[in-house]
Amino acid sequence: MKILVTGGAGFIGSAVVRQAVNAGHEVVNLDALTYAACLDNVESVSSNPLYTFEHADIRDRAALDRIFFEHNPDKVMHLAAESHVDRSIDSPGAFIQTNVLGTYNLLEAARAHWIAKGSQETFRFHHISTDEVYGSLGETGQFTEDTPYDPRSPYSASKASSDHLVRAWHETYGLPVVLTNCSNNYGPFHFPEKLVPVIILNALAGKPLPIYGNGANIRDWLYVEDHADALLTVLEAGEVGRAYNIGGENERTNLQLVQTLCGILDELRPAETPYADLITYVADRPGHDARYAIDPTRISTELGWRPSVTVEEGLRRTVEWYLKNEDWWRALQSREGVGERLGTKA
Ligand code: NAD
Repeated sequence: MKILVTGGAGFIGSAVVRQAVNAGHEVVNLDALTYAACLDNVESVSSNPLYTFEHADIRDRAALDRIFFEHNPDKVMHLAAESHVDRSIDSPGAFIQTNVLGTYNLLEAARAHWIAKGSQETFRFHHISTDEVYGSLGETGQFTEDTPYDPRSPYSASKASSDHLVRAWHETYGLPVVLTNCSNNYGPFHFPEKLVPVIILNALAGKPLPIYGNGANIRDWLYVEDHADALLTVLEAGEVGRAYNIGGENERTNLQLVQTLCGILDELRPAETPYADLITYVADRPGHDARYAIDPTRISTELGWRPSVTVEEGLRRTVEWYLKNEDWWRALQSREGVGERLGTKA
């Protein structure tokens, strides 16, 4: 396959780029290199002849047209996005610009390219989205692909909008699309503003481990390499026009997750006192969704995909990675907003 990956210098996109190149696919990595990007994430494949980088913004239609023309991809995996809920609360405009208008631009550029190449059925536009579009669950139930959309943050509303555009471009223009909606990811190369790296890096620095509200919010945690594997599975075997929910089968409260991380750190990098002593409860996120849970039946029964690691195993690998890659995360800690409490401007 020749895959145009957008957002391939980010956390999940870079995992997709690494896996796809290592599997022998040609990859064009298109990324605007925002604050969340790091080209070191793809360093392991950057000298591979199968890999090309294009510094471009999905809001720039002319750049997209040039890239489609020059590289002639037969698949698109669209991961470029503003992705941090807290930032979307303080500055929603960037989320509308990139996640909604950028996706519209990319769909139009992909459609023009697809038509120019004879509207081939094998072309795919794979849109990567989130389980947050479904809103918030109570104590029971799981999101299926038929759960009505009910986004509640500027981030999830912008992602829901982009999902609707992708479906419309399939229904109206016949563009061969697939969609995936995934739960919370964690793993190597996770930008140090998200919960898991914040906890690891604050613990190593002896700083408070901030937990929003009472820590009872539940998420389903998926190791990023498993997500990348699921995405390539859907790209190759998913049915056109269909959406697939991807989950880790690992529901945990935020407090449980942080306690697990503390236990792993106590073992791998013991301090004088247990790391859990650093846990500090802070003001909750406005509109904080209570619980997300994924029903993975469709992807497991139709495509035979299941996550390969438990959250305990994945978190252990993640902590080990952060302990070994201090140069990577130290360089990112000076980026704008990192280490600050964001999302309080509601
Ligand atoms: P990320 O913030 O780590 O990376 C996003 C990448 O997109 C960055 O490299 C950035 O430079 C690039 N980008 C941003 N705006 C751009 C633009 N206008 N043009 C071109 N490139 C641009 O995000 P992530 O966590 O890797 O998430 C990737 C995708 O997966 C997103 O679409 C996100 O909504 C979705 N997703 C994320 C999670 C999660 O837990 N992180 C879960 C489900 C779905």
